[in-house]
Amino acid sequence: MEWIEELKSFIPEEQIKTTLADRHSYSYDGSFGEYLPDAVVQVKQKEEVAAVLKLANMYHIPVNPRGQATCLSGGPLPVHGGISLDLSQWPQHVEVFPDDLIAVTSPSTRTGKINEAAEAYGLMYPPDPSSAHVATIGGNLAENSGGPRGLKYGVTKDFVIGLELVTPEGEIIRTGGRTIKNVTGFDLTKLVVGSEGTLGVITEATLKLLPKPPAVQTLMVVFDDVRTAGAAISKTLTSGILPSKMEFMDQACIQAVENFQPAGLPVDADAIVIIELDGHPETIAIETERVQDIMENIGAVKSTIPETEAEAAKIWHARKQVSPAIAKIKPTKVSEDATVPRSKIPDLMDRLDVIKEKHNVEIVVFGHAGDGNLHPNVLCDKRDQEEMRRVELAVEDMFEAAIELGGTLSGEHGIGTMKAPFMEMELGEVGLDLMKRIKDSWDPNGIMNPGKVFPEKGQKLVLRNE
Ligand SMILES: Cc1cc2nc3c(=O)[nH]c(=O)nc-3n(C[C@H](O)[C@H](O)[C@H](O)COP(=O)(O)OP(=O)(O)OC[C@H]3O[C@@H](n4cnc5c(N)ncnc54)[C@H](O)[C@@H]3O)c2cc1C
Repeated sequence: MEWIEELKSFIPEEQIKTTLADRHSYSYDGSFGEYLPDAVVQVKQKEEVAAVLKLANMYHIPVNPRGQATCLSGGPLPVHGGISLDLSQWPQHVEVFPDDLIAVTSPSTRTGKINEAAEAYGLMYPPDPSSAHVATIGGNLAENSGGPRGLKYGVTKDFVIGLELVTPEGEIIRTGGRTIKNVTGFDLTKLVVGSEGTLGVITEATLKLLPKPPAVQTLMVVFDDVRTAGAAISKTLTSGILPSKMEFMDQACIQAVENFQPAGLPVDADAIVIIELDGHPETIAIETERVQDIMENIGAVKSTIPETEAEAAKIWHARKQVSPAIAKIKPTKVSEDATVPRSKIPDLMDRLDVIKEKHNVEIVVFGHAGDGNLHPNVLCDKRDQEEMRRVELAVEDMFEAAIELGGTLSGEHGIGTMKAPFMEMELGEVGLDLMKRIKDSWDPNGIMNPGKVFPEKGQKLVLRNE
């Protein structure tokens, strides 16, 4: 292809991969689909990104940005071929400016490293997706990722105050800045965050940091009924106490973790809620007692407080193992992140039970229950076409349930290819059209990550190999 030869005139040849084997290894992410790019280009500086985008824009070649490909909704997949733009080889760099309480990072920096760098100054970077040890900040920004601490502190968008971005036409721009307050013009920073690589390539981020709380307290509460757990979560959140984390695991998740990497979780429990309170030691001691009372009064079987930091870390490690542990139960897992207003969690649990029965599918549930963001995972086998048809119907019903309960298609995993067909259901025709018009004005030739977020004509949810 002519454009691949042209690429070699400004990108070092060892950063361009065109063999089938190389392209094949870029055809997956953490979701379902499998699409081959025509070429992989590994970029390590903004000038390279700008040059690639200028060329792609001229030849109308799709460009699919890619961090570490842990995306669960198909975001980095080259669904229309073109270039897989790999940012994972860009040197990781994070610089903390403690007097301004900010950090400036390169797009490839792993999220966990940002928090580690902040901690060296007694600060913290709160967003903590479970994939923080592998995923890049570029991917987090594009997906607006969140994690357990989202309950108290918010998600990625709440901590980004400035970006450097290469536009689809290859121009390098800056949005926002280094100040906490900034109301100059439209907030392009927030528009880019969560746009899933459809508006340009993020090449640098300026992030807000917070003082690290002096103390944390973990507690694990055991329930013999999932609905009671949901009610206890709602009751705690309306009691005047705001935990930093409040995570839910159902029995199947508890058992899967115990089979995978035993952590001493109660395997007979129907559900557990793992809570973290943070703040000054005196305050969290009072709050811990209060939360235990609330949970026990509403029907918790028991609550336990780990005696050492190591014990608490073991419980949180167990929570992080849920995803890999349930992946061992069946060959395929379809991971969803239906999110509802917090008071509707018990209703969502009921709807999931009905969906499970109706379509005869295996669903396990865990997630960030404190902010209404549950992860129902359908465990199945991609090779069984008949089962996958039932899974498709179950997933459609989950989306419908979330929206009917006043919620959203995605709390943090993004729309990608998988949820694009359902966008109109949530946004309405006019809302979706307005979003599309913004996209078209940023990217007149439609080269940035096509096939994501916006439904294509006749597109349906398909989880089968057709
Ligand atoms: C085990 C596991 C646990 C997870 N836990 C969580 C969780 O707790 N919370 C959560 O929110 N997510 C979670 N995820 C999903 C995933 O880790 C996040 O979406 C993450 O932000 C993706 O980062 P990445 O570097 O892998 O990006 P990729 O998967 O490579 O890309 C994600 C999207 O970002 C775009 N993109 C990447 N880099 C750039 C850039 N520099 N500029 C513009 N666009 C870019 C891509 O085009 C794509 O649309 C989990 C995934 C796994 C596999």
